[in-house]
Amino acid sequence: MTTPLAPGAVLGFIGLGNMGTPMVRRLVEAGYTVRGFDTDPAARDRIAGLGAEPVAELAAVTEGAAAILLMLPSSDVVEHVLDEAGLLDAATPGTVLVDMGSSRPHSTRMLADRAAGRDLRMVDAPVSGGVGGAEAGTLTIMVGGAAEDVARVRPPLDCLGGKVTHVGGIGAGHALKALNNLMSATHLLVSSEALLAGREFGLDPAVMLEVVNGSSGRSGSTEAKWPNFVLPGTFDSGFGLRLMLKDMRIAVDLAEETGWPALLGEAAVELWAKAAEELPASADHTEIVRWLTDTHEGKEERA
Ligand code: NAD
Repeated sequence: MTTPLAPGAVLGFIGLGNMGTPMVRRLVEAGYTVRGFDTDPAARDRIAGLGAEPVAELAAVTEGAAAILLMLPSSDVVEHVLDEAGLLDAATPGTVLVDMGSSRPHSTRMLADRAAGRDLRMVDAPVSGGVGGAEAGTLTIMVGGAAEDVARVRPPLDCLGGKVTHVGGIGAGHALKALNNLMSATHLLVSSEALLAGREFGLDPAVMLEVVNGSSGRSGSTEAKWPNFVLPGTFDSGFGLRLMLKDMRIAVDLAEETGWPALLGEAAVELWAKAAEELPASADHTEIVRWLTDTHEGKEERA
């Protein structure tokens, strides 16, 4: 019998970065007891101020926790945390592990099998909506896993997301998230190319956005990324360029495997990879526009 994890339950949370920190805040505000771990002591200090309990040892997040949420950078890190760092050994049988980062679906399935071997359950629940969505509790959450496990973690997911959809079996959420980001990154690139060319022609970018957003060229990039992070010149969405590239690569690999290779997607990956080489490691993904501009201006100077 599945008992949904209502507020009052203890949750472990691993990965207290740009997304994890506001997510922990929402869970605490909803009445959950949250025990959080991050390898970065500054990240642990941040959640102490939010009413959560930071723990300095990974195994301590498992104490009394019926579910452990992970918001880590990549599958490699998730594999490390579950395996070498010992989460699979430390977690109490019956615990649901919820990977909310953007991971590789095959890795997720492999980890779910390993978890099942220790009587642990696994759900993938990656998110879309950025730091703003995490702060407001309006994330779109795409969930993969067995129905009874999803039902168990549904209440905390509902605290974090405005739209929580069970999209299939284990790994399905991660597949959909990667495909979503391939679309998002490709939109951002092509929208930016068009907007930069229009600006060169003499059009005002703000006017172009106003018109495009009422036309068929609109996308999340023209509706949110350009107006909020590019036009004001802040480039501070809180989603790293390298994280976006990781997701795009997951998606093109998945497309290739299905026999439906993403030819335009692969071209986009090549450009994003070049940008990742040339921009600082900490670059925000919206800085792809800065990179396009610099690349163009460099070419002009060399001509
Ligand atoms: P981030 O780099 O800000 O945070 C990751 C955190 O994980 C850091 O605090 C880091 O110290 C911690 N960490 C790394 N290795 C660890 C380990 N071995 N043990 C414990 N903690 C460890 O990343 P983020 O922007 O919060 O993204 C997290 C995940 O969410 C990624 O998979 C990303 O692709 C996805 N995502 C991010 C956004 C966004 O807007 N930032 C949106 C949707 C999805």
